[in-house]
Amino acid sequence: MTHPYFEYTDVDRRFFEERLEPLLPERIFDAHRHVQLSEHLDETQERFERGSFPEGIAGPESVEQARLGYETMFPGREVEMLAFGSPQSNCDCAANNAYVSDAFSPAGGAHVPAPQDGGGSAGLALSRPAWSARRLLEELRRPAIIGIKPYERLIDGFEGGDVSIFEFCPHEHLELLDELGGWLTLHLPRKERLADWANIEEILELRARYPKVVLVIAHLGRSYAGRYAREGFPPLADDPGILFDNSAVLNPAVHALAFDRLGPGRIMWGSDQPVFYMRGRRRWEGDRYINLTSGDYTWNTDREPPEVEATYTLSLYEAMAACLDTLMGLGYGEAEIGAVFHDTARCLVDEVLARKEHW
Ligand SMILES: [Zn+2]
Repeated sequence: MTHPYFEYTDVDRRFFEERLEPLLPERIFDAHRHVQLSEHLDETQERFERGSFPEGIAGPESVEQARLGYETMFPGREVEMLAFGSPQSNCDCAANNAYVSDAFSPAGGAHVPAPQDGGGSAGLALSRPAWSARRLLEELRRPAIIGIKPYERLIDGFEGGDVSIFEFCPHEHLELLDELGGWLTLHLPRKERLADWANIEEILELRARYPKVVLVIAHLGRSYAGRYAREGFPPLADDPGILFDNSAVLNPAVHALAFDRLGPGRIMWGSDQPVFYMRGRRRWEGDRYINLTSGDYTWNTDREPPEVEATYTLSLYEAMAACLDTLMGLGYGEAEIGAVFHDTARCLVDEVLARKEHW
């Protein structure tokens, strides 16, 4: 089987051997990635698009393709994942959730060790804000599903703009999740992301009202550029129950702030695949990031000379190197790298899986 969204090259092989292989732990856990089949999308329905990155990079990626991607990118490593559907507005969320559940439960042929033994992958359910708590519970009771991945785009008729966290992750859902001790990976809304005081207040409110929810803020609060991290991490630093995944963050300075202000124990590595099969690097200007990529995407207007683009590796590798180099540069070592790339997520997933027996 060849992978539909990337070709592994000698540049990638060399990058892996020089920058990643010496530091990555034997076992890796990807705490944020998407899996989907094209049949989960209703193409007759118009969907909300922004006309910018990450469009055009990849279509749906199946669990088999995800595993093939890991095998190719991380030879000799054992990789498990916390996966969820891709939250397109035209997604049949229930079908995508059922697919994730089947893939990671014994009925789907997956090897699912008992929670106390560790191991195995798990999933989150895409949640439609319009669902009742009872409807959401049906999704949460699917095997191997340990929580939810709500998204502003799943608000009926969403047209962009700033919304409250509680508009797409309603209190009714949070009450249920709190009762169950379930997992919430939260994609922050609002243009100002983690630097928006309304988001900070809502995160603190969520923690105060729903303390048993395993709260993971996606993409370091969408802190792709430095100011969001500089302004957003301090007010959240004191609560060790606010966790983060670093998916889609390539910025070494943001990683440095995160590890210093929050500590490596609160940050889990996530790939956000299939988007980061994209080849290239990032640079930053003020609050903007610029994707430098060799991909033939409509939005790709910042090109470098062909001889420079020929040196691009997978963006995922760049993101991992930024994370690993920063940990090493700050004087951390094997224990913290193990925590970020495997142990913290593994341990939390196993805890929720154990609770799930009573859901
Ligand atoms: Zn994502």
